Amino acid sequence: MADWEVVIGLEIHAELLTKSKVFCGCSTQFGGTPNSQVCPVCLGLPGALPVLNRKAVELAIKAGLALQCNINQYSQFDRKHYFYPDLPKAYQISQNELPVCSDGKVELQMGETVREIGIQRVHLEEEAGKSLHAGDSIMSAAYSLLDYNRCGIALIEIVTEPDIRSPEEARLFLEKLKTLLEYTEVSDCKMEEGSLRCDANISLRPIGASSFGVKSEIKNLNSFRAVQRALEFEVERQKAVLAAGESVLPETRHWDEAQGMTFSMRSKEKAADYRYFPEPNLYPLEIEPGWVESIKAELPELPDARRDRFVAAYGLPIYDADVLTTSRDLADYFETCMQEVKDAKLVSNWVMGEVLRWLKAHGLEAAESPVRPGELAGLLRLIQENVVSNIVAKEVLAEMFASGKPAALIVEEKGWKQVSDSGSLEAMIEEVLADNPGPVADVKGGKTKAIGFLVGQVMKASKGTANPQKVNEMLRDKLQVK
Ligand code: ADP
Ligand code: ZN
Ligand code: MG
Repeated sequence: MADWEVVIGLEIHAELLTKSKVFCGCSTQFGGTPNSQVCPVCLGLPGALPVLNRKAVELAIKAGLALQCNINQYSQFDRKHYFYPDLPKAYQISQNELPVCSDGKVELQMGETVREIGIQRVHLEEEAGKSLHAGDSIMSAAYSLLDYNRCGIALIEIVTEPDIRSPEEARLFLEKLKTLLEYTEVSDCKMEEGSLRCDANISLRPIGASSFGVKSEIKNLNSFRAVQRALEFEVERQKAVLAAGESVLPETRHWDEAQGMTFSMRSKEKAADYRYFPEPNLYPLEIEPGWVESIKAELPELPDARRDRFVAAYGLPIYDADVLTTSRDLADYFETCMQEVKDAKLVSNWVMGEVLRWLKAHGLEAAESPVRPGELAGLLRLIQENVVSNIVAKEVLAEMFASGKPAALIVEEKGWKQVSDSGSLEAMIEEVLADNPGPVADVKGGKTKAIGFLVGQVMKASKGTANPQKVNEMLRDKLQVK
């Protein structure tokens, strides 16, 4: 049986962060009363005319620059026809032959190597409305309700080359793309609100083959994890089809999250089914090079550049730098804290460890963290000044998240200050020595490793507040070992 190579290409829709829709002035606010953000243009009433939103074009250009695309000086809008009730004009204004951006790439750091995923195109289009079917399924619904608040929101569609070679790589690509679109404030990329969506195309071919196999397209992917799982399922399904000597059908398949399977939905529309033709109510889009230059000049530092700078300027391992720059928020959080603490590895360990773990557990972003970077810095300074040990600091941080109080106050109130003066430690140490004659004899007999055990006992007796270094020194003194 042949060994197969996996070939994947993704099509991603991202809602642009514009205040108004792409061809009318209606608000794009999420969660409004159904059909409260509509007008004759986005409802497709006869005679209404679209006017292009300049901000939408600007954001599409930004996305194109972040994806290292050519920004095409001349592009054009087309009508793409299909008849679903969520699209009242019975066509979507999109871009077919001449998209606003083309020929880009995204670099993925995969361990030591860098993989390059080509971007075919980025084009502008409009969002559809939302259908809500009564009952359990569209097939048995007695009626459907329609909300056109989303209809006409500005979208970009990003199409990759079939360069992705595994389901995991597809997920990593999406994570990187999300990072790029968030950094540039092109989209908020909230999959749960539908502002980022992905369809995945996948085929197999014998390793070494030069042409591609027949692909299927998977829809209804509601998370990055779902994209990876659905593709993993599809690899196995297509392998089984091919191994049985049958052929993969060119079809659209629906991912069922609960069952963990894809199901055939319909045979795929061909380009001809869409009956594309140029949108007669909009001028072709001409972009002046000077505009692109000024947008480029305003771009923030992009994630790869920021990662490299974190390595060079702070001496962080590339792994740390990579994690810290996955979101602009998190990178800002780290850098703000750094200004006060100036020990990159200490800050990095705490941000990547305790802080990120707490945020993940509570489903929050760094910008939403109840413990602000300046407050974390306050805690880290207590560690640096030996006021608290690392272990106690973890409890202090948990308390900071819970109560919102500053670190120093918590330490004060709880009496968690690290004890370093010999007088206070003396009694505890004497007691531990008296209670542990065995280990004491071991140490005296040359097994100095047992000192660690004795330090541990003193730490325990002090409820973690003893300064472990000081305890170690005092024990060595008393037992007369170097
Ligand atoms: P279609 O003609 O079905 O619209 P396109 O060539 O426009 O196909 O590509 C749509 C998406 O499918 C792109 O992301 C592309 O990379 C991907 N793709 C194209 N051919 C294949 C293939 N044989 N296997 C996997 N993905 C593919
Ligand atoms: Zn409108
Ligand atoms: Mg196509």
